[in-house]
Amino acid sequence: MLASAALSALFMLAFLALVFAPLERLFPRRRQRVIRPEWWTDLAFYAGQQLLWRFPALLALGALAVWLDGVAPGGLRADVAALPLAVQIALVVVLCDVTVYWGHRLSHRSAFLWRFHRVHHTSEHLDWLAAYREHPVDGLYTMTLENLPALLLGFRLEAIAGFVAFRGVWAVFIHSNVRLPLGPLKVLFGSPELHHWHHDAERGGTCNFANLSPLMDKLFGTYYAPPGRDPAWIGTPEKVPHDYLGQLAYPLAELGRDGVRAARAMARRARGATPQPEPPPAPAE
Ligand SMILES: [Zn+2]
Ligand SMILES: [Zn+2]
Repeated sequence: MLASAALSALFMLAFLALVFAPLERLFPRRRQRVIRPEWWTDLAFYAGQQLLWRFPALLALGALAVWLDGVAPGGLRADVAALPLAVQIALVVVLCDVTVYWGHRLSHRSAFLWRFHRVHHTSEHLDWLAAYREHPVDGLYTMTLENLPALLLGFRLEAIAGFVAFRGVWAVFIHSNVRLPLGPLKVLFGSPELHHWHHDAERGGTCNFANLSPLMDKLFGTYYAPPGRDPAWIGTPEKVPHDYLGQLAYPLAELGRDGVRAARAMARRARGATPQPEPPPAPAE
């Protein structure tokens, strides 16, 4: 099973490289080498996602689907099933954009979610491979948001496999180092131009939260695309590890430190002691 997963991961990597490497060469957004800094880190994220984290994530998604089968209102599912297939798929696409948009905004507001989502924002050089820099917890969260409408409305994932695959490739495209005007399609589809501003360190992830379509950003005032300008600094100002294992462990270590601090504060309150300010967390290595 691991051998077939490795083979399909290699096949997909070759496919993506064959599509995006020439595009990045022919229509570059900024000059950078193919093997740019932290390229190997992002390759490790790709391998980890394909060979390690995908299986537990699919199991969790399967468990969620079974649970939703039991609790989702049957009448609603029957009404949706009676709609023409094209309408059903359009419904799933729109609802998926809604859940991903608000879920993504939340991951920039919630301290808990940000610890995991921040890993994605540590990339300082965006290209197609940087799309895979994602903590497994953040990956599971996004995967759940992406598939929740389909599961809730009773779609089998196989029925919308084509759309899921397209959405995956588009997520890679918006990270790519490509300047390719979409023309009139830019109203409907997100682009590297928009998503690179989401990774702008100075704006701190305050714009362009949508993935597939920018309509939600337009609707809720978070659309940002100044003509003729590019972000000067991609990344996050926070001092965090940049190696693969360090990035996997750091959010958990921070949560552990928070837990210890909370337990100490509770113990002090239980003893009736005057609360003392906690020392600041140790700087990142
Ligand atoms: Zn991104
Ligand atoms: Zn983000």
